[in-house]
Amino acid sequence: MKIVRYIVDGKTEYGILDGERVQSLAGDPFQKLEKLERYHKLGDVKLLAPCVPSKIVAIGLNYHSHAKEVGQPVPKEPMMFFKPSTSVIGPEDKIVNPGCQRLDYEAELGVVIGKRASKVAKAEALNYVLGYTCFNDVTARDWQAQDSQWSRAKGSDTFAPIGPCIETELDAGNVLVEAYLNGERKQQANTSDLIFSVPELVSYISQVITLLPGDVIATGTPAGIGPMKSGDVIEIKVAGIGTLRNHIA
Ligand code: MG
Repeated sequence: MKIVRYIVDGKTEYGILDGERVQSLAGDPFQKLEKLERYHKLGDVKLLAPCVPSKIVAIGLNYHSHAKEVGQPVPKEPMMFFKPSTSVIGPEDKIVNPGCQRLDYEAELGVVIGKRASKVAKAEALNYVLGYTCFNDVTARDWQAQDSQWSRAKGSDTFAPIGPCIETELDAGNVLVEAYLNGERKQQANTSDLIFSVPELVSYISQVITLLPGDVIATGTPAGIGPMKSGDVIEIKVAGIGTLRNHIA
C-alpha cells in the first residue's frame, strides 16, 4: 500500500495511491487507517512530503561502497546526525542553495516510524515501522568540511526532500536505491550493501532517542555522491516505492 499526503481543493489530506488515482483516507493514518469512498485523479492533487516528522535522524557512512569512496574505515557504530523538521520539502518542490559552494544530492532509503519507539529490541524493530520512502539527504559539502557540527551543512531549509509516498510493503534489506541527475544515473546500490540494517538502526537509535510517529530515519547514501547546480533536476528512485523529483532553484 502506498500512502500519500496532498493538497486538494485547498485542503490537506492523506490517501492511498493506486496507479493514477488516489483514494482519500479519513484523518491521520498514523492513528487509524480508514478509507473513504472518495477518489481523486493524481493529476488533480499536489503531493506533499508523505509524513510530518518531528525530526529526521540521518545516518552517515552506512554503505560499504560509500565508506570506500570517501576513504573512511567501516564504522563500528551507526553515526547519527539530525536534520530539522523545517528542512522538509515534498515532491517537485525546489531545493534552494543557501549560499554554499557545493550542493550535493545523496540518494537514501527513508524509514517512516509508525508508532512511538523507545528502547526497542532489534527483533521487534520492524513493528514500529509504518513503511519506507525516498529521501534526498541534501548536503552543503563545503560547509560539511568546514564546520565541526553539520547543522547548516545538513539542516538548511529545503535540504530534506521526502516522497512521493510511504510504501508499507517492502523488503528494506534488498531494494535498489538510485539517483538520477538530469536523467543520468549517478548512484546505484542495493540496500543489501548497508553496514547497519533497518532493524539495527531503529533499535540503536531508540535506545537513546524516542522516535515518534512520522519521524524519518535516513539510512545513508551509497557511492556516487556529486554536486547539483541551478536548473538541475534530481531524482531519487527506490524500487517498489517510486521517484522523488526535485528542481534546483
Ligand atoms: Mg546521507
